[in-house]
Amino acid sequence: MAKKAIAIDGPSGAGKSTTARMLARELGYKYIDTGAMYRAVALAGLREGLDFDNEEELAGKLTALAEEIEINFSSPDRKGRVEIFLDGENVTEEIRKLKVDQLVSRVASIAGVREVMLTKQRELARNQPVVMDGRDIGTRVLPDADLKIFLTASLKIRARRRLRDHHAQGDKITLEEVEERLRKRDTRDRERAHSPLRRAADAFEINTDEKEPEQVVREIRDLFREVV
Ligand code: C5P
Repeated sequence: MAKKAIAIDGPSGAGKSTTARMLARELGYKYIDTGAMYRAVALAGLREGLDFDNEEELAGKLTALAEEIEINFSSPDRKGRVEIFLDGENVTEEIRKLKVDQLVSRVASIAGVREVMLTKQRELARNQPVVMDGRDIGTRVLPDADLKIFLTASLKIRARRRLRDHHAQGDKITLEEVEERLRKRDTRDRERAHSPLRRAADAFEINTDEKEPEQVVREIRDLFREVV
C-alpha cells in the first residue's frame, strides 16, 4: 500500500515550512523540504564555481552535478527541526544565505535538475509517510497525495516574514529589497515552462495572512481526518 502523503505548495513566505514541520511532528511523519533540495543544488553549483551567466553550459553542468551529489535530511529534533546535508556536510544555514536565494529559482527552472529532484523526492515518499512542501508537489511530484494544500499570503506579509528570517541570520537587507526579490522569484516560479508553481485542482487553499501557524496546522489536520 502507498505510504501516506500530504503535499503543501505555495509561494515563498506563505508559511509552508513552519506549517509542514509542525504537522509532520504531530503526525510522526517525515518532513521533506524540497526547496532546501534545490537550494543544496544551487550551493553545490556555487562551490564548483559554475558560471551562472552561461545559460547554455549551466543546464548540463548543473544537471550532472545534481545527479552526483548526495542530499540527506536528519531526523527531526524535539522542535521538529530537520537539518540538511550536502555530501555529508551540514549546510542547513548556508543554503539560506542571500547568494543562494538569488540563484535558486534559476537552478529550479532547469528541466534536467527538476527530473533528478523528482526521482529523489518520489523515492523519499515511497519509503515513509511524509509531509512534503514545495511548488509542484501536488501537481507533479505526488499527484496522488492523500491531501493537497495550497498556502497563500499577501506579498507584504510574506516579505515581512522573510525579513525576520534574514535579520535573524545577520543578513543586511531592507523590507523593500526582500519584497523585490520575492516578487522576482515568484514570477520566475510561476512562469517557468517546467512544473510551474500553481494550485492543483484538488488542493485546498488556505490564506495565512491573519493566522498563527498553530491555527493553520489545526485546519490541515482537520482536513486530513476527513480525507483518510
Ligand atoms: O521554499 P524555498 O523558498 O526554500 O524554495 C526555493 C526555490 O526552490 C523556490 O523559489 C523555487 O524556485 C524552487 N522550488 C521549486 N520546486 C519545489 C521547491 C522549491 O522549484 N518543489
